[in-house]
Amino acid sequence: MQLCDGNDRDSSLQFLKHVLLSIRKRYTDSMPELPEVEVTRRGVAPHLEGRTVSAVTLRHQGLRWPFPPELSQRLCGYPIRSTGRRGKYLLIHFDHGTLIIHLGMSGHLRVLPISIPPNKHDHFDLVLDTHLLRLHDPRRFGAVLWHGEEDGHIDQHLLLRGLGVEPLDAAFSADLLYRQTRNRSAAIKQVLLAGDIVVGVGNIYASESLFKARINPKTPARRISLARYEKLEIAIRETLEAAIRQGGSTLRDFVAVDGQSGYFQQHYFVYDRSGEPCRICSAKVRQIKQGQRSTFYCVNCQK
Ligand SMILES: [Zn+2]
Repeated sequence: MQLCDGNDRDSSLQFLKHVLLSIRKRYTDSMPELPEVEVTRRGVAPHLEGRTVSAVTLRHQGLRWPFPPELSQRLCGYPIRSTGRRGKYLLIHFDHGTLIIHLGMSGHLRVLPISIPPNKHDHFDLVLDTHLLRLHDPRRFGAVLWHGEEDGHIDQHLLLRGLGVEPLDAAFSADLLYRQTRNRSAAIKQVLLAGDIVVGVGNIYASESLFKARINPKTPARRISLARYEKLEIAIRETLEAAIRQGGSTLRDFVAVDGQSGYFQQHYFVYDRSGEPCRICSAKVRQIKQGQRSTFYCVNCQK
């Protein structure tokens, strides 16, 4: 790109601003939430479970935190028993401990033949017999951590012990939301994002679920009745399940050598639709900030 003077310079600056905004928007949009992590787990699980680790390749000191010391010695020769997920943490279980992977803001996991050379930002490979699990993470906000059996149950890991219930488990209920919010004067959107009552309802799905339940995201959590929490519980389950179902069509991308690993595009009711007509009443969707995060809602439909 050439930077010129006069009008050309203005238009160049405009162009630069546009590029920067679109990059920021892409990062925001592509940040994996619970459905993306669950779809990733389902995509890679059949290629991991029952296979034995033959090597570990680290191409960086670490991501958000340093890689665990001697990870190769800890894993080589051990078979993977199963995979799981807690919130946005992907769990790879061995007999002697669990490998915890977090995708951060920009991480993607792929299963590839071992002959495929790494690209830039491919920081971690878990090598199995004929293929490998490769973590690509340009922003390095992700994590690869080890929790040994000697450190107790995986739920006791520092990052997992304070997490609320899983929104798709039977333990999640309207009653739980109601009981645990009687003293919470914070806005319901903030309470959902806090993750201590229910985990994995991130920024996108909190906005979408509150829209479906017709609850204004600014409403203090303790003011919401049990009947309205019943609507919210159903909305959260339906929203997350629909996103996982939609992501199911991308499962093959996790093993395609040339597959685009971008997260699935979705049809949102309010999220990222500021100023556009509400899909129910046609009023303009409003965007506000709550705790540094954008919230989208319809003043007409959500009371
Ligand atoms: Zn509306």
